[in-house]
Amino acid sequence: MTIKLQNNSDNSIVLSTNPAPQKDIVLKSPDFGFSMTADAAPYTGKGTILLVDDIPENLQLLGDILIRLGYTVRSVTSGKMALKTVRVKQPDIILLDIKMPEMDGYQVCEALKAEPELQHIPVIFISALDDVLDKVKAFSCGGIDYITKPFQVEEVVARIEGPLTIQRQQRQLHEEVKKRREAEEVLYQSRSLLASVLNSSLNGIAAMQAVRRPATGNIEDFRCLVVNPVIARALNRDREELVGKMGFKRFLHQFEIDLFEQFVAVVETGEPIAQDLCLQGQDTFWYHLTAVKLGDGFAVTLQDITDRKSIEVKLQQANQKLEELANLDGLTQIANRRCFDQRIQAEWLRLSREQQPLSLIILDIDAFKAYNDFYGHLAGDDSLRLIAQAIAQTVKRPADMVARFGGEEFVILLPATDSEGAIKVAEDVQSLIAELAIPHKQSPISEMITVSLGIATLIPDTDRNSNLLIGRADEALYQAKDGGRNRYIVASSTN
Ligand code: GH3
Ligand code: MG
Ligand code: MG
Repeated sequence: MTIKLQNNSDNSIVLSTNPAPQKDIVLKSPDFGFSMTADAAPYTGKGTILLVDDIPENLQLLGDILIRLGYTVRSVTSGKMALKTVRVKQPDIILLDIKMPEMDGYQVCEALKAEPELQHIPVIFISALDDVLDKVKAFSCGGIDYITKPFQVEEVVARIEGPLTIQRQQRQLHEEVKKRREAEEVLYQSRSLLASVLNSSLNGIAAMQAVRRPATGNIEDFRCLVVNPVIARALNRDREELVGKMGFKRFLHQFEIDLFEQFVAVVETGEPIAQDLCLQGQDTFWYHLTAVKLGDGFAVTLQDITDRKSIEVKLQQANQKLEELANLDGLTQIANRRCFDQRIQAEWLRLSREQQPLSLIILDIDAFKAYNDFYGHLAGDDSLRLIAQAIAQTVKRPADMVARFGGEEFVILLPATDSEGAIKVAEDVQSLIAELAIPHKQSPISEMITVSLGIATLIPDTDRNSNLLIGRADEALYQAKDGGRNRYIVASSTN
């Protein structure tokens, strides 16, 4: 064991040990002219003791013992030096001689106790004076104990260990408090960072915790852990109303019927969800919602997509309008040929599967060229509009369709309608047009506008196509014209 002597800037001598085994090292202090001897004493960090005594031999004797017992010892030979060294580096305890020249132990102790930074350091007086009055003075000026010379080592150790233990515990406590303060500071910093991220986010952010039924372990509700202002605004609530609260199951149901179940699935399966959500209050807001599992709960983000949605809705409406326009006949405002072609194909396939009859009526205005020639094209257009509306009124079922086939020809498509049904519709059309009673002075048939109709009915099959039905109705129409007009003819073949 080596005892190292360090002559410090604060004029104290530090005696400590290192592990190299080397006995009986003599330590000399050139400044104070005394020496200390120490043999192997394990340094266990038991505490730092400042010895203050004007007689170097006393210092050496006591220092030697204490070093051997594992204490770090610093020694000074005057009260002034003691104050100076203590201000630079505080010991855990001071063993203070009373009788010293210039400044006695009491004065040193009073000076220490007068300084807030130093007054906590315990002071034990050592003196040859065994006087009751001195002892009282020692305590009244701030000493915690009193050792009289000659002393027994065990007594010294016993008397310094108590305060040193308290010092050690205080130091430990101090360290712990410091660490805790640091941890609290880190926590505070990260909390305020989190709060500013949450508060400044343009998106809604919330964290929810599952509330499980103890008996089954099933999620029965969610509790809100964190919620930022955007979500609170979106839900039209104060944050205080949401944080820590339950009742979200009921709350969520008002927005979307299965939203709660979807969140439960996120927690139970770990599968995230992403969907658009519409929140309706005074105004309608659209949000893109994402939810990802977070512990035994989930984190949810809401992105306001109201602007995007309203553009989408307008676009959809415009597309729908376009679609309608693309399917409408401009003059008569009923379905056009394009629309009819699509519909007859679809019905052909559908009724092929269902093996139900599909009927088609093709209707042509009689002697319409003559009408135009006599009344003019605009009057002809007006009549076409009137007749189109009259035909449109005769069909009732949602699947039925009236369309302008071209020129002054119209078609009536009657899905799941047999020949008799089609004849009934044709007769209704004829009588409605008769009721319109549009004068036609140039007609060779009547004084009013009349129509001829060709009717065909087929049970569609996928080996043939809808042109067959159109051809047969057209053929029947031709026969009606040929037969004198103002009549309907039913195509004979139903196969
Ligand atoms: P039919 O009894 O044999 O059917 O004689 P029609 O004169 O009606 O037949 P035709 O095919 O000879 O003439 C059809 C006429 O329909 C020609 C045209 O003047 C008229 N027409 C076709 N489309 C329109 C239209 O959009 N507006 C008007 N005003 N007339 C139209
Ligand atoms: Mg025609
Ligand atoms: Mg005609």
